Amino acid sequence: KVIEHINNANGKTQFSFEILPPLKGQNITQIFDQMDPLMEFKPPFVDVTYHREEYVYKELENGLLQKKIVRKRPGTVGICAAIQNKYQVDAIPHILCGGFSKEDTENFLIDLGFLGIDNVMALRGDAVKSETYFTPERDGHSYAGDLVQQISELNMGKYLDAEIENQAQTDFCIGVAGYPDKHLEAPSLDSDIHFLKKKIDKGATYIVTQMFFNNAKYFSFVDKCRAAGITVPIIPGLKPLATKKQLNLIPHRFSLELPDELIADVVKCKDNKAVRELGVAWCIQQSKELIAAGVPVLHYYSMGKSDNIRAIASSLF
Ligand code: FAD
Repeated sequence: KVIEHINNANGKTQFSFEILPPLKGQNITQIFDQMDPLMEFKPPFVDVTYHREEYVYKELENGLLQKKIVRKRPGTVGICAAIQNKYQVDAIPHILCGGFSKEDTENFLIDLGFLGIDNVMALRGDAVKSETYFTPERDGHSYAGDLVQQISELNMGKYLDAEIENQAQTDFCIGVAGYPDKHLEAPSLDSDIHFLKKKIDKGATYIVTQMFFNNAKYFSFVDKCRAAGITVPIIPGLKPLATKKQLNLIPHRFSLELPDELIADVVKCKDNKAVRELGVAWCIQQSKELIAAGVPVLHYYSMGKSDNIRAIASSLF
């Protein structure tokens, strides 16, 4: 379990990362090729994101538009099982409220339990492209906290409609997301932390943060969480910048601020190779300061590329 990996590390900062399932049609070797160069840094666990369906419109011969539901990156559960089998590390599937009824959630968790997957990262998910606001599935959860509650109840053997007595209990270790820049929809950071505390009270045992590029944001977020009574480990999530385009994409996509100094340095880069080098150097600096502050784990967002994460890890772990 993630929490056991943290508790057994005697205060040493550990390395971990998140990967995305490949685009539909690609082979599992695409995942292994990304992971192989990172395994020498001994991650105790690896996260695998979950990507829900998207609505796309296809033009028919008669000119009408047909709405189609497509999942571009399926395979989260299978990838987790394959990773655990190949590398003997704990794989953490992300699980969403969006697109899942409570029954779907229960069935998903039963599959995980049968596969020997004992950790989950519980998330609400974003609104799909055709929605302005997040809309829960019929009979699904509106907030990650409600999903955490369902997982905790299953851990106590409480199924939705079980037909047998003495139901098997699962034993999931549950992680949740935290936002040093506050979540996009939250009216304030205090309100966001208030609901983060509820996720912990319902049974989550650790937090992974959204990426940030200024450590002061993380330190202040941790202080605020502690003041609000959140005592669980708060794992910083980091991403090295890799392209100039990300200067616009990242703040917009993840609703966060980039430091002025980083923006100025990226603007001066002559090409994306230079941005990549700068992104790695910046991330190493961030990581060193976070290790010195005693964070339990450094969790890197690979976003489908591992060479820059490898460059960072080799100078730290
Ligand atoms: P919640 O905790 O439910 O919070 C959502 C918003 O509602 C916040 O503004 C919060 O303050 C507010 N809120 C919470 N509870 C209540 C309540 N009871 N009443 C009123 N307001 C409330 N997305 C994916 O699709 N797939 C992934 O694999 C994925 N992985 C992620 C991993 C990490 C580490 C992070 C940080 C994010 C990830 N996301 C992923 C994105 C995530 O799904 C979105 O950020 C989503 O918009 C919010 O998810 P959440 O779990 O934080 O939601």
